[in-house]
Amino acid sequence: MKTDTCSVCGKEIGSYKRTKGMCHRCYYKKLWKENPDKYQKRLESCRKYRRKLREKVFAHYGNCVFCGETRVEFLCADHKNNEGKVHRKEIGRGGSETYRWIIKNNFPNIFQTLCSFCNWGRGVYGKKYKSEMKKWAIRVLEREKQRGEYI
Ligand SMILES: [Zn+2]
Ligand SMILES: [Zn+2]
Repeated sequence: MKTDTCSVCGKEIGSYKRTKGMCHRCYYKKLWKENPDKYQKRLESCRKYRRKLREKVFAHYGNCVFCGETRVEFLCADHKNNEGKVHRKEIGRGGSETYRWIIKNNFPNIFQTLCSFCNWGRGVYGKKYKSEMKKWAIRVLEREKQRGEYI
């Protein structure tokens, strides 16, 4: 099989990924450099769109069910009862695809809101996470309050 190398970074690239003799990474880097405004705008509108999706979803599901976190950028939609694996196949890889799916399907009652901290904590504590996380979240909130950081 014929392989090509990127004219910029010299990395081997499969012909299906070739874009003007460059690998995708270098190609988009170049585009970005040439049209910073255009790409900045695109990135910006993409971000806004994703934020809108998230705001809609969490307006429905509410704050983090454990610690009450309200800042949208920290929240994620969590599958109750670990149905995540099955559903992920159906609704895509997560991220904005998931949020689109939720909105399209009229906010099914299989999700709950978790913040990234509690989500992480559940990964650490497993089944005991509910009680452990409550203790943990309270400690964090106390600490933030003491430092005056909690809004
Ligand atoms: Zn390259
Ligand atoms: Zn939380």
